[in-house]
Amino acid sequence: MQLAERVNRISVSPTLAVLTEAERYKARGIDVVDFGPGEPDFPTPEHIKRAAIRAIEQNYTKYTATAGILPLREAICAWHAAQFGSSYASAECIVTVGGKHAVFNVISALIEPGDEVIIPTPYWVSFPDIVKFAGGRPVFVPTEAADSFCLRAPQVEAAITPRTRIAIVNSPNNPSGAVIPPDEFARIYEVCRKRGVWLLSDECYSHFVYGTTKPYSIAGIQGSQPHVIIVGSLSKTFSMTGWRIGYALAPHGLVEAMLKLQSQSTSNPTSIAQYAALEALRGPMDSVATMLAEYARRRARILEGLRAISGVTCNAPDGAFYVFPNFRVRAVNGSPRALNASSTPDTTALARQLLEREHVVVVPGEAFGAPGFLRFSYATSIERIEEGLRRLERFFQSAESSS
Ligand code: PLP
Repeated sequence: MQLAERVNRISVSPTLAVLTEAERYKARGIDVVDFGPGEPDFPTPEHIKRAAIRAIEQNYTKYTATAGILPLREAICAWHAAQFGSSYASAECIVTVGGKHAVFNVISALIEPGDEVIIPTPYWVSFPDIVKFAGGRPVFVPTEAADSFCLRAPQVEAAITPRTRIAIVNSPNNPSGAVIPPDEFARIYEVCRKRGVWLLSDECYSHFVYGTTKPYSIAGIQGSQPHVIIVGSLSKTFSMTGWRIGYALAPHGLVEAMLKLQSQSTSNPTSIAQYAALEALRGPMDSVATMLAEYARRRARILEGLRAISGVTCNAPDGAFYVFPNFRVRAVNGSPRALNASSTPDTTALARQLLEREHVVVVPGEAFGAPGFLRFSYATSIERIEEGLRRLERFFQSAESSS
């Protein structure tokens, strides 16, 4: 079949590919320990579900404004202002079909063929493909485990060329969990502003931060709003992945362009989900604190377990619900044989062996542009984490004795 070249430029999300493989095992009745999920394992809070049921009963089941109902856009701006100190007007807000759709609309509205978009690695899997689909060129800027995967302003500056239009920053980061400290974030913003590059900040994990780290948005810096694009989502914060509600906050002209795109593609996000989102943003946020406390407990346990595997190193991530350990020295059949510095580790093969032999699902670092690492999501119960750690121990012990 002859397909359009723009579709041939992209591939199915590699995280989805791993999860599909895991689903095959589960369908055969195999007890899989799944560290794959990129979504909270908690149900959507009751008061949010009830708001959706009320919306159906009250017949809020018709088309809405393309940009989303006005009360929701106002609630997003008010919530963002209260949480982060920004000051957006509803005309600078568009509700989208999840945060992914907001990223897609922003890139589609701004990127011409050949334009460059700075993407720090490790990256969320969709950023490069969305850029490629638009005809742009992803320019990867590696962050280092030794520096807690923190993106640094001089790196961004060095990557800017006359073709650079956007620098994407995702903090807390998927997959590394890294959080960029506010002063470094401000320096990155300054570099972008000075060089006339949009700073696209993906805040989907904003509220899952640990220790003394606080939720943060670059849009809270006075005067920054004309230069930044904020992408947010209710998916993770309120455990609403299936409802598909995200948003973008940006200067009015860009929101108008996104609106035009949306009006000719998806139209409005689902009306019922919009009413649920309205309740999420206006209602109590206790569920967020409850989830965070549970994530913190799991994070401590999985870190301890992974660090106990010889040869494996793992940063304590400041945010999100992932850990991203370095399995480089274990990337040859799981045995502790150090690769020489120049060889590329094959963590995809390691992930496959873990699935085949121990039925443990992890996402290989290759999916995020960072071979040598594995992503473990701890959006799963502490009991399953314990079981997974037992299986990992068995896997690596048997690899050691056979090496
Ligand atoms: N941004 C990042 C960094 C993500 O990890 C995800 C989902 O995994 C998204 C955006 C999109 O989430 P959604 O489209 O469900 O809002």
